[in-house]
Amino acid sequence: MALIVQKYGGTSVGTPERIEAVADRVIRWKQQGNDVIVVVSAMSGETNKLVALINAINPQGSGREKDAILSTGEQVTIGLLAMALEKKGQPARSYTGAQVRILTDDAHTKARIRDIDAEPIRKDLADGKVVVVAGFQGVTESGSITTLGRGGSDTTGVALAVALKADECQIYTDVDGVYTTDPRVEPKARHIPRLTLEEMLEMASQGSKVLQIRSVEFAYKYDMPIRVLSSFDEFGQGKSTLVTREEEVMEEVSVRGIAFNRDEAQLTVTGVPDRPGVAYQILGPISDANIEVDMIVQNIGSDSSTDFTFTVHKNDYAKARDILCKTGETLGAKQCTGDENIAKVAIVGAGMRSHAGVASKMFKTLADEGINIRMISTSEIKVAVVVDEKYLELAVRVLHQAFGLAQTAV
Ligand code: ASP
Ligand code: MG
Repeated sequence: MALIVQKYGGTSVGTPERIEAVADRVIRWKQQGNDVIVVVSAMSGETNKLVALINAINPQGSGREKDAILSTGEQVTIGLLAMALEKKGQPARSYTGAQVRILTDDAHTKARIRDIDAEPIRKDLADGKVVVVAGFQGVTESGSITTLGRGGSDTTGVALAVALKADECQIYTDVDGVYTTDPRVEPKARHIPRLTLEEMLEMASQGSKVLQIRSVEFAYKYDMPIRVLSSFDEFGQGKSTLVTREEEVMEEVSVRGIAFNRDEAQLTVTGVPDRPGVAYQILGPISDANIEVDMIVQNIGSDSSTDFTFTVHKNDYAKARDILCKTGETLGAKQCTGDENIAKVAIVGAGMRSHAGVASKMFKTLADEGINIRMISTSEIKVAVVVDEKYLELAVRVLHQAFGLAQTAV
């Protein structure tokens, strides 16, 4: 007998019929002798509606009240799913985040989970019940409802799996796993049966949207295997992707997949003094404004001045630019410029550690297409470049081809 946590995303519970189908699936797992905890998202589109309501009244409103509103979508689905299970003869019990006691910090709208009280859940499981938990939410020490950031139900699923020492965390969505790249950009993208948690972490941080990045961080930290699968497949018939420990991923390839991100913008300040402390003077005010910086490049200085370039999320572009240009003035910079029409493309693969020449192959492939590289950043298992946004799709396709990821002809 195993303990399984299943998370169902918004499209998987998008209609009453879909909720009944989820109930049927849960019951099949239960009848096979497993204990099952189910985490659900709001019905598809519901959280966006709540965001629109908030914005119609006061987008500047307090995080506490925003979370009181945002968390309601999931409260509907837990009740509906528990009712569907009971109607079909399976005892079930629903819990909001606060009822379980998923304790978080008080960073409203992007709270982090601190602790989960597993006892009430264990007791229900021992009584033969299926436990249904609202994703995306928790509660502070003082009792305010919090939410975990968009897509946060994935994180609830993984965190519960860790807290209850589950055997597997299954994430059900509308695609049957992780692909070598987004099939909407490259139709030849291939399904990946297994990849490492570290590879998934890089893929998510480079722009893959299959799993919320925080959920992968959690899984990586606690070594919790995640299986991504489709709730639209016939029970037990579909494909899936297992994201797991490196030892369990047999196939050694240099590049596992290609991730990309259109959401970044580039900022540059030129002719700043080349002396200790300048990077801090430039980036300190940006981070003080709670703006996250991704890639950073500082040129080798010539005649005691240097240029400095970095990327931020497009949503933060205007604000970051204002701050940077002010700093630039104080530092006597030559110019402060920016560009919103950029995109990031990354190749990711744990096999890069033992395969030389992966980066240069990437650069040559892009050069052969006349695609200019604006910035480069690397880690042990990733090479990421910034290119003009208009070349993004071409870049993804030629790299997909060059690294042999394309579907082999049937
Ligand atoms: N309902 C929330 C959202 O749309 C959380 C989730 O679906 O994971 O972001
Ligand atoms: Mg999601």
